[in-house]
Amino acid sequence: MGNIIEFENVSFRYESDEEGVTLPLAVNKVTFGIEQGSFVAVLGHNGSGKSTLAKLTNAINIPESGRVIVDGMDTADEKLTDEIRKTVGMVFQNPDNQIVATIVEDDVAFGPENLGVPPEEIRRRVDDALKAVNMYEYRTSEPHKLSGGQKQRVAIAGVIAMQTRCIVLDEPTAMLDPNGRKDVMATIRKLNREMGITVVLVTHFMDEAVLADRVVVIDSGCILLDGTPREVFSQTDKLIEAGLDVPQATQLAQKLAGMGFDIPTNLLNEHECIKAVCKLLRSK
Ligand code: ADP
Ligand code: MG
Repeated sequence: MGNIIEFENVSFRYESDEEGVTLPLAVNKVTFGIEQGSFVAVLGHNGSGKSTLAKLTNAINIPESGRVIVDGMDTADEKLTDEIRKTVGMVFQNPDNQIVATIVEDDVAFGPENLGVPPEEIRRRVDDALKAVNMYEYRTSEPHKLSGGQKQRVAIAGVIAMQTRCIVLDEPTAMLDPNGRKDVMATIRKLNREMGITVVLVTHFMDEAVLADRVVVIDSGCILLDGTPREVFSQTDKLIEAGLDVPQATQLAQKLAGMGFDIPTNLLNEHECIKAVCKLLRSK
């Protein structure tokens, strides 16, 4: 289907507060594309460059060198910034920093209002977006009374209402409790699978990355691994090198294989692990 976002040898560096000090590159010569309609997880430990990378996708950060192309538009061209942000929407980690209005439905309407969408269409978009994230019944609630997960779903509805074709979410579940995380993850999958929106999910949770079609692991601003979850999570040594946890199921399978048992080493979850261990026991 072609790539909706294209990184071509992209580097980015923050400016230091101290005069004469040059900070290292936060993103270092990154080349990759995000295929239209795909669900890509970007995984990396704290400080690896995930947020910097996310903000390069919709012209919040502009590359020091290289180019980021969004649906044919170069993010370095200021005239295109509005159009780029209509194509790629962003959801951030802290739900409290993203909600601007005092009523849920006003908050969701904020984006399309700024785009100059006619009122009757805004009404329809807001209702549809709130239904999509399962928050319609809270449309007249005050956001500060909602849980973190509910607020995050309202923030996602705000992006849906802008009808961006791609949504980049930067650790959207990091501040949520397990239930909030589950609801937000279900919403994110629905965006991709049912609504056809391209999803880039930045996360440091393995169990979230496993749900994507593709996992890109970054370390010190560089791409370390890029492949399907199964391909990426079988590279235990490299993941540990990048300061990431390996799924427990994968670790157990690899230890058993190391002891000479005939078990696949690319298992992703408990379910697959249980199946493989049962097969092993039966074969004895
Ligand atoms: P992550 O999101 O993976 O935790 P970031 O993209 O936030 O990583 O940070 C990448 C690197 O850039 C880190 O070394 C971090 O300290 C540095 N950094 C992030 N934001 C700034 C900033 N505003 N000024 C200077 N350095 C920054
Ligand atoms: Mg971050």
